[in-house]
Amino acid sequence: MTQPRVTLNDGRCIPQLGFGVWKLTDETAPALVGVALEAGYRSIDTAAAYGNEAGVGRAIAASGLAREDLFVTTKLWNDSHGYDAALRAFDASLGRLGLDEVDLYLVHWPVPRQDATVETWKALMRLREEGRARSIGVSNFTAAQLARLIDETGSTPSVNQIELHPGFQQSALRAFHAETGIVTEAWSPLGQGGALGHPVIAAIAAKHGRSPAQVVLRWHLDLGHVAIPKSATPDRIRENADVFGFHLDADDHARIAGLDAPDGRIGPDPETFG
Ligand code: NAD
Repeated sequence: MTQPRVTLNDGRCIPQLGFGVWKLTDETAPALVGVALEAGYRSIDTAAAYGNEAGVGRAIAASGLAREDLFVTTKLWNDSHGYDAALRAFDASLGRLGLDEVDLYLVHWPVPRQDATVETWKALMRLREEGRARSIGVSNFTAAQLARLIDETGSTPSVNQIELHPGFQQSALRAFHAETGIVTEAWSPLGQGGALGHPVIAAIAAKHGRSPAQVVLRWHLDLGHVAIPKSATPDRIRENADVFGFHLDADDHARIAGLDAPDGRIGPDPETFG
């Protein structure tokens, strides 16, 4: 699989397609991450909250791949905001992964109720300086939350990982990312499977002789997003990696743009969650 990459604002590169492992366990992750690595994925998206960092680490160790050929993301959970707590949480994640550094460390949610993102972010800045988190970013931040973080620390996250799929396209937030040089990473890129049954997606899939999942992932890649689809089914893991041999045309893009719905959010609202 060719591996297109997106350049981050710190000069490093992230593979445009990654394998998401939410809901895999320490028991199921080793085999399924192994399938993904064999299929050509080189980026794995885990989190402290997923409870599978150890399983992901075992898969990486068993793969025989060189560490520099892999891009590993993990995330700081909501119970670990604050400077010291964030440093401790990072050490714990590294220990579970069995790695000396991660490629990307994200603040998983802004948790406005705690109002601790600035101190948390300063800890991530230190981890980047130390080289233990090669790049740092956030997840589920609104434009206002990003603007505040940038204003108060002078440091712009490399990535904002957000809910993003044809039924919830987040155009305003993506425009803010483009203005500020933040890479958009799409979580639930397939709408947790919900986007795949739509007749518009089915028609475009039939036109290109591709599956609905491949069409939705191609849409993300064409728009420059990083996408991290998840599957626990080996054939689907492989299918989702096979998205580099075709492109959508302007008509396809216009039709998918028409699927956007302001109330299409599946996951929690970042203004209130946590
Ligand atoms: P997704 O959009 O990747 O959908 C996954 C589901 O789609 C699968 O469980 C399966 O039901 C279906 N599916 C996948 N491939 C398919 C195929 N080829 N054909 C038919 N159906 C298929 O949803 P997700 O798991 O919620 O998101 C992906 C990843 O994003 C997660 O694993 C996780 O790494 C990340 N994530 C991050 C956050 C966050 O807050 N930062 C939140 C949710 C998910």
